[in-house]
Amino acid sequence: MDNTAPIAATDYDTIVIGGGIAGVSIAYELAEQQSVAVVERESTLAYHTTGRSAATFLESYGNATVRMLTRASRDFFVAPPEFVDGPLVADLPLVIVAEKAEVQSLRSLHEAVNGGPVRSGTIELLDGEAAERLNPMLRPGYTELAMVDFGSLELDVHGLHQGFLRGLRRRGGDVLKSAGIVGARRERSVWVLSDAKGNELRTRNVVNAAGAWCDEVAEIFGAAPIGIRPLRRTAFMVAGPRELPVGFSGSRRTMTMSASEDFYFKPDGASFLCSPADETLQEPADAKPDDLEIARAIDRLNEASLLEIRSVATSWAGLRSFTADRTPVIGPDPTVDGFSWFAGQGGYGIQMAPALARAGAGLMVHGELPTDLTDMGLSTALLSAGRAALAA
Ligand SMILES: Cc1cc2nc3c(=O)[nH]c(=O)nc-3n(C[C@H](O)[C@H](O)[C@H](O)COP(=O)(O)OP(=O)(O)OC[C@H]3O[C@@H](n4cnc5c(N)ncnc54)[C@H](O)[C@@H]3O)c2cc1C
Repeated sequence: MDNTAPIAATDYDTIVIGGGIAGVSIAYELAEQQSVAVVERESTLAYHTTGRSAATFLESYGNATVRMLTRASRDFFVAPPEFVDGPLVADLPLVIVAEKAEVQSLRSLHEAVNGGPVRSGTIELLDGEAAERLNPMLRPGYTELAMVDFGSLELDVHGLHQGFLRGLRRRGGDVLKSAGIVGARRERSVWVLSDAKGNELRTRNVVNAAGAWCDEVAEIFGAAPIGIRPLRRTAFMVAGPRELPVGFSGSRRTMTMSASEDFYFKPDGASFLCSPADETLQEPADAKPDDLEIARAIDRLNEASLLEIRSVATSWAGLRSFTADRTPVIGPDPTVDGFSWFAGQGGYGIQMAPALARAGAGLMVHGELPTDLTDMGLSTALLSAGRAALAA
């Protein structure tokens, strides 16, 4: 570090804290106009939530704002820019199944999703028998009504993360690993960040993309917390049944979720990825799978499907970080200069990443969202850190 440098000298225009999908995607977008570095506490990137997802793109999932951001990301996934090693997607229709008691809530979801922003895939309601023909792994007689989203996709999360990283590096961006930020002080219009080893970095702007830790990071910079709730979600792998049901084909795959979202499963090679779809509040940490939730999910999955689960091959968990209105928080902090948010991606941070990063860069650099996003119905008021819903 050059101690004789004038006070306004900086190492970077912007430092992004966090090397998950949020951090690398916003860093890539900002690096078009600025010098940017990503700093990550772990020795590898995407170690936390980003490396633990179910890797799906579901336009019917989440609230209306999330669905718009997902829809706006679709073109990037289907036809990725040249710096991404494609393909990033494979077809994976989503089948949401309802027992009798869940039929009304599934009909309401169908209405909300169909009446929402422009969609790419078709959505259909099917009776139980038609749903079983589409997914022969469903237990005959379990499903009363199903909603199928034929536009859903499976994603290559690693390919997406690596792609943003490659794009960032090509734009001259840096990535510093094993660099957990623990302190910050303001010297005129410059932030001086210190990591746990005592290294200092100088930057004009900071972007908080620290996932479950974003409120802890905000405290370092004197910003008010946004009330992030890290909710643990467990996933596990099981072998398929000894005999595959008649009509089941690895090439006609679907993802299946219950209408109450208390389980989901999808084929993964010769195995199946399953989840209790749990949401358990915990402190930010290296999340561990919840054995009780796994046991509960196995009961539900065996009731609803022909998976015949007897044992679990591997399991893991990650923290899905939600705000009070389950919508991301992006853009400048309302009170602290040079500090912006890119947080609250919840259970949708992969599928929204391309559009959310463009939205974030728009707000941070130009103070407004790109017009293609406002044309869809997105607004600063829905996404800003100062919005009223966060105070609730
Ligand atoms: C089981 C499960 C299934 C999911 N399925 C899907 C899905 O199918 N589709 C989808 O779109 N989303 C899914 N998600 C959600 C998605 O994974 C998240 O929205 C997304 O990964 C969040 O990315 P992030 O970069 O914000 O967080 P993270 O990946 O957790 O990154 C935050 C990073 O910040 C770093 N950090 C924290 N504090 C500091 C500090 N002080 N200094 C430096 N670095 C710091 C952390 O080490 C961490 O690496 C799923 C999540 C789970 C758990």
